[in-house]
Amino acid sequence: KELQRLAVTDRLTGLFNRLRLDQALAEQLLRCQRYASSFSLILLDIDHFKVVNDSYGHPVGDQVLVELAHVLRKGTREVDVAGRWGGEEFLVICPDTAFIGAMAAAEKLRKLIASHVFPVIGTKTCSFGVASVQHNDTVSSLMARADTALYRAKANGRNRVEGEA
Ligand code: GH3
Ligand code: MG
Ligand code: MG
Repeated sequence: KELQRLAVTDRLTGLFNRLRLDQALAEQLLRCQRYASSFSLILLDIDHFKVVNDSYGHPVGDQVLVELAHVLRKGTREVDVAGRWGGEEFLVICPDTAFIGAMAAAEKLRKLIASHVFPVIGTKTCSFGVASVQHNDTVSSLMARADTALYRAKANGRNRVEGEA
């Protein structure tokens, strides 16, 4: 049991890891194809995170990731699957959630994070990309839309939510 838990857990943050997120994405896609239900993704990336490491050192950067994970856990629903996608990027999978609902959830998270005071560094923001499953989507086509939206959020000034329905 413990080994199984460790296999799907990100060691630093305690959130689900990439392996578990990949499993959840595949499961959700199958469910949608079978039951004509919906789900959405919220992909978020810390703004100018490199500056944290450069200014305060890697251990402080790690601490920010740990604390951001707490904020994510508090700010998402029990049924959501929140995990570390890699580095300073996180993914929230929202089952049975259509585009509008996911945009609202992302905006709520954006505000929660932007108003959170981290030790040492103070405040930090994130940029968000939202995408909802469409007919004929694969995991990679869906993730690509979340990525495109996130890229747009960065390009449009950061600390914002963009979506690709
Ligand atoms: P942007 O707003 O465009 O996202 O800027 P950024 O600085 O966040 O983006 P960039 O991709 O240049 O830098 C990401 C940084 O995240 C660099 C990398 O060292 C840091 N990082 C990734 N994983 C970890 C980690 O586990 N711990 C720490 N401390 N830093 C990490
Ligand atoms: Mg990044
Ligand atoms: Mg970043």
